[in-house]
Amino acid sequence: MDLITSMKSAIALLVDRYGQFEQRVRQHTERWCRPFCSACRRVCCQAGFCAETRESSFLTRVVRRFSSHSVFSPSNGWLSSTGCTLVAGRPPVCYEFLCRPITGAVLGDPQHRYAMHVSSMLVTHVGKRAIGGRHLVEATRAADLDRLNPERLTARLDEAEKAFRIVADILDGQPPGTGIQALSRIATPPRNDDQEIRRVM
Ligand code: SF4
Ligand code: SF4
Repeated sequence: MDLITSMKSAIALLVDRYGQFEQRVRQHTERWCRPFCSACRRVCCQAGFCAETRESSFLTRVVRRFSSHSVFSPSNGWLSSTGCTLVAGRPPVCYEFLCRPITGAVLGDPQHRYAMHVSSMLVTHVGKRAIGGRHLVEATRAADLDRLNPERLTARLDEAEKAFRIVADILDGQPPGTGIQALSRIATPPRNDDQEIRRVM
């Protein structure tokens, strides 16, 4: 297999793994957010955020692979009357934002608060420095993907998947088990809660 063919198949595998991971994160996040988002009168989605997917060569491939039914509209982006139509390929910022009603209702003790924060940063973490110093969403030309670092992206997916299993347990009320330190690879514990969180780590 020549270099170009081998890079193309590495990218196809990464698109698959990324999309599958994002779907797991999305499904878990929606369990918390759906009751609020489905009744929300000030939906925070904006076509400008949606456009980030189309600007990113990698996310465009994720959408083609997992959300080919979705149609982008200049005024509403990927949003339909029933919510976002992308099952994968959403810009990471869409996972980062949690409005106050959601955080207020879901989060109780510091460990839950931290777990929710880590959960919101998982997709962002995967794409960090994937192409030189740039995030995956900043790779806007098809040729940028030739410079993708498959080893780094794979390592970040490994880290994010490990952290996801732990935060899912915490948020589901299960004991987090071993390896909770893996969360600090995704997000630094907030300073005020450090002591309490370190006690459970
Ligand atoms: S995240 Fe909050 S502001 Fe955004 S749609 Fe859901 S409930 Fe509304
Ligand atoms: S969640 Fe979907 S519809 Fe909302 S801003 Fe993100 S991509 Fe657009």
